Amino acid sequence: MKNSLLVLVFALSASFLMSCATAQVATNLTPDKINAALDEAYNKFKDVKEGKNADYIKELATVDSKIFGIALVTTDGTVYTKGDISSMVSIQSVSKAFVAAQVIEEMGHQAMQDKIGVDATGEVFNSIVAVERMRGKEINALVNPGAIAATSLVAGKDSAAIWKSILMKQSDFAGRQLGLNMPVYISEAGDNLRNQAIAHLLKAYGRMYFDPVQATDIYTKQCAINVSAKDLATMGATLANGGVNPVTKKKVVSPETVMYTLPVMATAGLYDDSGIWYYNSGLPAKSGVGGGIVAVCPGKFGIGVVSPPLDAAGNSVKAQMVIKYVVEKLGVNPFLIQPK
Ligand code: GLN
Repeated sequence: MKNSLLVLVFALSASFLMSCATAQVATNLTPDKINAALDEAYNKFKDVKEGKNADYIKELATVDSKIFGIALVTTDGTVYTKGDISSMVSIQSVSKAFVAAQVIEEMGHQAMQDKIGVDATGEVFNSIVAVERMRGKEINALVNPGAIAATSLVAGKDSAAIWKSILMKQSDFAGRQLGLNMPVYISEAGDNLRNQAIAHLLKAYGRMYFDPVQATDIYTKQCAINVSAKDLATMGATLANGGVNPVTKKKVVSPETVMYTLPVMATAGLYDDSGIWYYNSGLPAKSGVGGGIVAVCPGKFGIGVVSPPLDAAGNSVKAQMVIKYVVEKLGVNPFLIQPK
């Protein structure tokens, strides 16, 4: 009798404490606040004319530069959207963050550090100098050399199996079956000699773990996966939620894998502008030359924005503006600490 009373008191106080915790999260990030932040960001930046589509991959120059979509997915699986979220762009380098997570999940975080590296190069994303300077070492999986090396590390008996595994993992992060943008793939595959050179240089330094030509081809395919802003936001939300997709509830990677993926995104997610980005947003993020950016607010949400015109570093101009605005408006920069 006494015992069951104790259990009851314990259960009641535990549920009280839990409801306090939920209420706190809820008052910080209400649906109204989130919707208002996305609306304001959309209206504020929709007419920005700066930036220009990538054109070194010919097909990307033909993408409608007016596409502008914003999505935010919370760790409880609620999806908020604004603007054009049905148009898709090629994921490009955003895929690198999720292949990095796949490699960490499959091989462990130490292998990522030892076989590729986790240091920002400070160079442009397709820099050969960065590889040459360190003789293939101390790069990272979020710029082309490290990304092709990461692709070459994904488990699979042949090129088809590796590609299938990558596409499946990216799809699990997004919570739906993703597909390939064939014209973008063909356009880049016919013109990716620089990436092939990078893969061969890594091979020469013993830092390429599968056939360099085939690894570059799989990497090129992975970059041509089609995504919407909502796909990107869901992929980010899966990282924000410790590796479980908050919409499908599927476990995609472990919390430890997320713990090792986010710091690389924080230090190298926006190429040679990563420091400027992190300084201004406080959020790990990843950009791609297709015009997408995903950012992760750990424990809270993923946000994905698509707008093709890029700045000189290759990052979407509007996507950066929107995410910074939303982070500030919602007061969710993880380094914004209210003193006790
Ligand atoms: N596929 C592109 C490339 O290798 C990806 C680059 C990017 O998004 N920064 O050049």
